[in-house]
Amino acid sequence: MTDQPTGVARAAATPTQPETAQPETVQRGRPATGDAPAGAGAGPGAAAGSGDLTDDLLRSDQWTDEMLQAAGIPVMDVPLVSIGGGIGSFVTVDYLRIAGVAADRIAVLTNLDFAWQTYEYLTRVSQIPKPERIRSDSASRPDNIWGFPSYALAEAMSERTFAPLWQVLIEPIGADYYTPKAGRVFAGLERESKRIGWSQMLVKGQVRMVRKRQGGGYFVILTPMVGSTPTKRLAYRAEFVHLAVGYPGLRFLPELQEFRTAHQDFHHVVSAYEEHEHVYEAARTKHLVVMLRGGGIVASRVLARLMDDRAKHGLSTEIVHLFRTYITSSHGPNAWNRRKGAHGFAYQGFNYPKSVWGGQLKARMRRLEGEDRAAAYKLMGGTNTPYRRRWQAQMTEGREAGWYRTMAGTVEQMRLDQGKIVSVVNTQAGMVEVAADFVIDCTGLEADIAEHRVLADLLEHSGAGRNPVGRLDVERTFELRGAGSGPGVMYASGATTLGGYFPGVDTFLGLQVAAQEIADDLARRGFCRRIGTFRSIQQWLRWARNKQP
Ligand SMILES: Cc1cc2nc3c(=O)[nH]c(=O)nc-3n(C[C@H](O)[C@H](O)[C@H](O)COP(=O)(O)OP(=O)(O)OC[C@H]3O[C@@H](n4cnc5c(N)ncnc54)[C@H](O)[C@@H]3O)c2cc1C
Repeated sequence: MTDQPTGVARAAATPTQPETAQPETVQRGRPATGDAPAGAGAGPGAAAGSGDLTDDLLRSDQWTDEMLQAAGIPVMDVPLVSIGGGIGSFVTVDYLRIAGVAADRIAVLTNLDFAWQTYEYLTRVSQIPKPERIRSDSASRPDNIWGFPSYALAEAMSERTFAPLWQVLIEPIGADYYTPKAGRVFAGLERESKRIGWSQMLVKGQVRMVRKRQGGGYFVILTPMVGSTPTKRLAYRAEFVHLAVGYPGLRFLPELQEFRTAHQDFHHVVSAYEEHEHVYEAARTKHLVVMLRGGGIVASRVLARLMDDRAKHGLSTEIVHLFRTYITSSHGPNAWNRRKGAHGFAYQGFNYPKSVWGGQLKARMRRLEGEDRAAAYKLMGGTNTPYRRRWQAQMTEGREAGWYRTMAGTVEQMRLDQGKIVSVVNTQAGMVEVAADFVIDCTGLEADIAEHRVLADLLEHSGAGRNPVGRLDVERTFELRGAGSGPGVMYASGATTLGGYFPGVDTFLGLQVAAQEIADDLARRGFCRRIGTFRSIQQWLRWARNKQP
């Protein structure tokens, strides 16, 4: 395995998208979170010498250099490839750059123009535009591995106010948790991205598959941007591969999917994770009944937007909020281990108890295997949302005035009746029909990992397996178990690895914890330096002065 890159191709970023078909769930105007469904387009292989995947390549679990040559696919050498190019790739590459890896030893293969593109899209449509505050805390800084200065301190300094620092001091008892504004997070990521030379490492395109290389390492097949290369595919030959492809896809509940398909109505039944500004616009022109489904942070956000607009523009919007699991009070296995809840919601500041990121739960989870781990996930997971005083006051007002109603149940059927969407809800009191002008589904980004083409291919060909909750099985170092190839290692981080030894994987801080484990593991293998105390201080000073690592 060569250590130095020999002519790594960096496709110039152009506004066109790669030719690969996108699934229905990937919305227009936003980057893809997945790829075509497994098997789609696999068909018979291309002819030898055509620059595309031959039968021989499609069928073999291990490839030789000669097989790629026979197919006519150009091969680039680069020691480490990160697939995805979102925040998971970004924080991992950030760690590696700080650990002394030169930018030309890393290639980031992605369909994104910048690392926070999908995150910015998803937060914006789910009602967290730049001026609004996100969910994670003051020290979770994906642009700063030290978490110092925290977002609260940075905000206090730039806006010349003590308010954020006071909030951090008295949270969560005297005030809600401090959380940064989305715009501040993006600005920090932009600065760090320039500092580490992110764009130099970026190669735009759609990753099609990763296969083991005979003799060690991997081949990553990329379908580059249309017209950027003479061949349909490029192969990246790498010793180390990092997978951070984010959410495999958007999952609609079956009855929502059926309704949308049967009526070809993508306007009145929408997901909170797709553009749905038209719902708020319609509410400003006439009286509407909106049905909300889901009890997580996104449902809270959408609800807050409807309530804010109602108050701001004097609207008469009615909201019917449907919970599948309706929480009425504090709940948990014993008196010491309880989570607050009321009016349908389970309340928790962050998506897991804080100690999963660095306390007793982190240590405990590292020791659990199989069913025990799955049970622990079940106990501390589940849909929840933060308790925010402003939202509480608005909901109380709505309940008292009768324009905000909650109910518990599951939807058995949906139909159109005189222009209204009627949901037949199976409740404890029997079947209840709810007629609404719009239905906003806030339930899920959680698709099965096999719906992502690259992951499906890995499960079939690389020896990668599933963990106790069905996602990618990774070691404590985030190495993909079973997928080693000679000295080569494949790592994975983010939502696809939920269910592993570290629960907070799909958060900024969790992605950084994974990145640190990966960087330490790579340092043990001699790929980079260890970030010890001296290096850490020296590198923080460079960060503070905005100097290259
Ligand atoms: C609405 C919302 C709010 C959130 N808020 C917070 C928060 O406040 N705090 C927090 O800590 N976390 C939050 N998270 C969770 C998490 O931190 C972010 O989702 C984060 O962006 C995850 O990073 P990622 O790299 O795993 O995924 P992404 O940032 O989505 O990056 C992965 C990208 O890989 C690309 N990709 C996938 N397949 C391929 C392929 N075959 N070829 C090329 N490219 C591909 C896609 O463009 C994909 O978007 C939030 C999540 C959501 C959905």
